[in-house]
Amino acid sequence: MQTVCAYCGVGCKFEIQNGHLQGLKSYPINKGMSCAKGVSQIESMDKNRLTQVQVRESINDEFEPSNYKDAISKIVQSIKKSDPSRIGFYLSGQMLNEDYYVANKLAKGFVGTPHCDTNSRTCMSSAVVGYKKAYGVDYVPVRIEDIYHAKLLILIGSNAAESHVVLFNHIKKAQKNGLKVVVIDPRFTPTAKIADLYLPIAPNGDIDLLNLLAKRLIESDAVDQEFIQNHTNGYDDLKKALASMDSELLLSRSGLDANQIDELVQLWQESDRVITAWTMGVNQSSQGVDKNLAIHNLHLITAQINKKGAGPFSLTGQPNAMGGREVGGLSTMLAVHLDYTPENINKVSKFWDAPKLPNANGLSAFEMLEAAYEGELDILIICHTDPVYHLPNRHFVEEAIKKCKLVVEINAYEGSETSSYAHIRLPALPFGYKEGTQVNMDRTLTRVESFVSDSEILQDWQIFAMIGKALGYQEAFDYSDTKEVFEEYQQMCRLSQDAHLDIYKADYERLKSEPFEWGAGLFEDDRFMTPDKKARLHIVQNLEQSEQRDESHPFILLTGRTRDQWHSGSKTAKIDKLLKYKPLHFVEINPDDADNLGIIDGDKVEIISKRGKLVSVAKITTIKKGAIFLPLSHREINYLTNDILDPQSKEPDYNHSAVAIRKI
Ligand code: SF4
Repeated sequence: MQTVCAYCGVGCKFEIQNGHLQGLKSYPINKGMSCAKGVSQIESMDKNRLTQVQVRESINDEFEPSNYKDAISKIVQSIKKSDPSRIGFYLSGQMLNEDYYVANKLAKGFVGTPHCDTNSRTCMSSAVVGYKKAYGVDYVPVRIEDIYHAKLLILIGSNAAESHVVLFNHIKKAQKNGLKVVVIDPRFTPTAKIADLYLPIAPNGDIDLLNLLAKRLIESDAVDQEFIQNHTNGYDDLKKALASMDSELLLSRSGLDANQIDELVQLWQESDRVITAWTMGVNQSSQGVDKNLAIHNLHLITAQINKKGAGPFSLTGQPNAMGGREVGGLSTMLAVHLDYTPENINKVSKFWDAPKLPNANGLSAFEMLEAAYEGELDILIICHTDPVYHLPNRHFVEEAIKKCKLVVEINAYEGSETSSYAHIRLPALPFGYKEGTQVNMDRTLTRVESFVSDSEILQDWQIFAMIGKALGYQEAFDYSDTKEVFEEYQQMCRLSQDAHLDIYKADYERLKSEPFEWGAGLFEDDRFMTPDKKARLHIVQNLEQSEQRDESHPFILLTGRTRDQWHSGSKTAKIDKLLKYKPLHFVEINPDDADNLGIIDGDKVEIISKRGKLVSVAKITTIKKGAIFLPLSHREINYLTNDILDPQSKEPDYNHSAVAIRKI
């Protein structure tokens, strides 16, 4: 029996041997490798399960036991009484494609609300917008195996050693064969330890650094004029804009020195195959899209794309963040990579035979809570995620969610922070029990198999289908099994622009033993998916629109994962051996900053922002002066974070909140 990991976007495949999970040697993505967190799932999957449907009238009441039929009848009555524009669906990168597909169909096609978004909004929506703006389509043109063909790998805003462990193992192997690695991060992370060049960038210095690199490459004529001429638009304007930027200012805002930039320029110039890989340190920003575009500019002006071992590689955080993008789980998309246009609405409406499709983008994840706060959202249906824990500015989120008349939580586990605000809780099948398909960071579609069963509990798609049928749409939601849902989704993929989402070529049964790469060679002959088939260069500048330090809040808070914990730890924090690597609560601080504040390693400290505060334990590290770091496993972390969103992607600025820290 084989299955796929339900944690990070690497998407490792396991085989089950004598009750243990181990990396599958024949699977091309992980080649037998795995990490402690991944293989622990067999131990954690039955701890802490939510197994009882629960209902209450008010969040001040105790929950009463109920059953799916009665609880869904209550949900449907509320939906019928409300206006579609006052209903939100909050989905998750933990859901499988089939779960996503039925939820999206129900929300947009049959409830008629455009407010169907996913927690992936908070991790990779900046990458989605960046790819679409640069190449005309949300397409990652790099595969994991490309790392073995690259000469230079730049990791910016990515702590792969802790966030994508098996990918990091591939990087270390490739390094033995000559790959050079640059790590750009304000923290000297475990990833930075293997760097041939480590650049301790200032928080939010990314655009300055990337622009400076592009400017220097142009000045030294290290660009590919033929590629620029034939395959891009906007070069002359970009060149002029970069020339007018003050190099000294870019350098000082990057937080680096001139020698470090020289080394980076030289490495790029010497390498005929370059990959830039990034994740939340770039995406989770008030200018996440612009940071992505600055990366794409570099790859386009030097033609470091569309060849083995080269390209811009955004690393997805969650197991099926990529699949959710394709299905259309984001509120800025209708379905299957189709934006809201009259033509697409018509196509989708016919395909689903749907009565009431919305006609424009809906609210994004955080915007749904803002609407709730304003009294403009009656119902919020949350599936396999915990917005009260993970959205920024938690005090605000708590106030906002309380204003919803009905909050439904669909979850596999107990103990979410959101559960305190739910009126109805519906148990759903977790990893090990559910089946379907998911897509990893490099577009590999594969089968997730169940190896245990629980006939009492439903899978997400079955719950959404029950709601659809109870609303009166029997035929539209009459699926007999997961395969049938997948096959309908496959047919819908034919509607994508030029049918580029060629998932319809996969075979559900064959996916068990043979993964499928969708969109192979999509940019063949360097033809992109823009109307003129040319990629677009963009002028971007650091607008410094994140929250700034002030006298009372002189530090910038950085956030991120630790190796063995997954998000709020509803599974990983239950496994003793996973608690040994790093504690759940600590705050990294630079030795000079600690000294100035009279803090020593292990001191209890309070961290305060304009929105809230929390208590943690100081850990003195080589983090950049003026910055501190808290792990996501600190469940209260978002009492501190600011709720500035990137205006283009609506992704929160989790890595730039002004805070104070003091010994208590
Ligand atoms: S690297 Fe990611 S996908 Fe692979 S086993 Fe670890 S958590 Fe799972």
